[in-house]
Amino acid sequence: KSSVHKLTSGQVVIDLSTAVKELVENSLDAHATNIEVKFKHYGVESFEVADNGDGIDQENFEGIALKHHTSKLRTFSDLSCVATYGFRGEALSSLCGVSSSVQITTCTAGTSPCATRLEYDTHGRIGSSSKIAGTKGTSVLVTKLFDGRLPVRRIDFVKNFKREFAKCISLLQAYGVIKVGVRIVVSNVLSSGKKTVLFATKGNSSVGDNIVNIFGTKAQTDLLPMSLELNIPRKQSMYLPDTDPGETVIKVVGFISQPGPGLGRNAADRQLVYVNNRPCNLPSIIKRFNEGYRSFNITQYPFVVADFEVPFDSVDVNVSPDKRTIFLHDEATVLECLRERLSEFLMKCCH
Ligand code: ADP
Ligand code: MG
Repeated sequence: KSSVHKLTSGQVVIDLSTAVKELVENSLDAHATNIEVKFKHYGVESFEVADNGDGIDQENFEGIALKHHTSKLRTFSDLSCVATYGFRGEALSSLCGVSSSVQITTCTAGTSPCATRLEYDTHGRIGSSSKIAGTKGTSVLVTKLFDGRLPVRRIDFVKNFKREFAKCISLLQAYGVIKVGVRIVVSNVLSSGKKTVLFATKGNSSVGDNIVNIFGTKAQTDLLPMSLELNIPRKQSMYLPDTDPGETVIKVVGFISQPGPGLGRNAADRQLVYVNNRPCNLPSIIKRFNEGYRSFNITQYPFVVADFEVPFDSVDVNVSPDKRTIFLHDEATVLECLRERLSEFLMKCCH
């Protein structure tokens, strides 16, 4: 039975990035406005996500790290319009299953200044619990990811920790850019005790300010605000042949680096695409932006930050366990429409 748990939990937490992403999303779901992500030795030793969010109610202490326990999904129909990041109740239970230890310290407005520190075992059951002083919020500390439970994955992780860490930082940057009103600070402490801050946003009220905090002021001068509207005709229903099916409007909001000689840069690692504020893997969309750029004879890749505001009935977020792979209905039409609007936009900007 426990090996089944191990297998399935391995799917939600497949690497350092997905582990940290789940914790940060939990903090965001808990309305945190301050999130600190602290790595020890690039996450190989441990990582901790501490927030000032709602905290966890005592009645949920027993359940939160058990499989499929979630406080977020209310009814089945909620699945089609999931507004919170989490909804499956798998992250904490997975983390318990694949790491040396998971320690949660939490405090709600009602219990402050008294926090509870909980240690969970491999099965997501409470191993120990103690009271300590604390302020409202939650901190989740995960030690030695994959150690003991998934030795092959641990070896892989330890061998490639720099690459895994870089991937994780890119993903955190994606959240740092899109989340307005949330301060996100990411740091790493080396075995020597030396601490490096990788980036820190300031709870800004705009995505532009977040970009400056993360990528520097040069990014700002190079970037053009972009707002495109994609009108996607809906398919005619075979049952209602005489009614106008109407269209779906997708707004693409963000920034793109200014095309032109001397400007632009090789920003292949700075291409951030979101669907409804959720960072996503959408290579086909990125490809369209690159092609749009190339049609202006620009060899560099553009720096892109693009949030696709899609009506909830046009996306399926319930596909891959990490929720990063999102399917858009009628993707081909979306891509074609994006190509047209983007080229109009770039044309206007270049003249
Ligand atoms: P999900 O996010 O899908 O609900 P998780 O396993 O990620 O599942 O979390 C389980 C539950 O633990 C959440 O539903 C929430 O009630 C609680 N929780 C986890 N992290 C936090 C946090 N940082 N602040 C408040 N509650 C949290
Ligand atoms: Mg979650």
